[in-house]
Amino acid sequence: MDNVLIVTGGGRGIGAETARLAAARGYAVCVNYRNNREAANGVVAAIRAGGGTAVAVGADVAVESEVVRLFEAVDAQLGPLTALVNNAGILETQARVEQIDAARVDRVFATNVRGPFICAREAVRRMSTRHGGAGGAIVNVSSRAAQLGAPGEYVDYAASKAALDALTIGLAREVAAEGIRVNGVRAGIIYTEIHAAGGEPDRVDRLGPTLPMQRGGDPIEVARAILWLLSDEASYSTASFIDVAGGR
Ligand code: NAP
Repeated sequence: MDNVLIVTGGGRGIGAETARLAAARGYAVCVNYRNNREAANGVVAAIRAGGGTAVAVGADVAVESEVVRLFEAVDAQLGPLTALVNNAGILETQARVEQIDAARVDRVFATNVRGPFICAREAVRRMSTRHGGAGGAIVNVSSRAAQLGAPGEYVDYAASKAALDALTIGLAREVAAEGIRVNGVRAGIIYTEIHAAGGEPDRVDRLGPTLPMQRGGDPIEVARAILWLLSDEASYSTASFIDVAGGR
């Protein structure tokens, strides 16, 4: 059976590296994006140029109806789903808690928690042996911030990733006997465009030298951990996490 993977937020950063690496390992890949269709199409074109199978599907994971449409598009275009990487995530401008309003908390949690929750639901409905599926694997892309708290920067984001970790553990145990493994990767400080959204594009260069490994991470280093957890090499791992954070 073909491995069919959805990578949410697969057009840029960690998601793009994950999509490319998965395709190189034989997965048919759905590259989901929210706004940047051009970036997602670029990832798809590179995969196809290498002989792989990929499609780009736009959907905001924070919107339930769009998530449902995303999974239906994959059913129709790639076939039965076997893997999901809940990678799409956002953060907002660096701020202290006393500066953060309710609307911002809602936006961050909508993408970082509600999105993975609804995506996981759609995946379980397709993959669980309880529903006639053939099993599969889910990896949630979390952050070391879930445990460090991101004080002075984005405690709202850190809290959303802690919620994602709880989803990982609870769902993993809920579906462990139904052929589905659910794991998390907690990334450290990685070279992507997300730091510009926080208002500090050069954040990785600033903080990299302060880390135990004295450098920021490359998205491919996170992608490799994600692909291992998706693979049969990780057949006895569920409700577990890999930190990819240079010792942070
Ligand atoms: P990025 O370069 O900013 O890329 C984010 C991707 O997510 C983009 O493809 C974006 O789509 C997509 N996205 C955002 N909101 C979405 C939504 N509501 N629906 C669908 N797609 C959405 O970020 P990144 O650094 O690669 O981050 C990927 C994941 O790693 C996130 O969950 C992030 O929290 C986590 N992480 C990153 C770091 C780090 O240092 N970079 C550290 C720890 C954890 P568009 O291209 O359409 O905008």
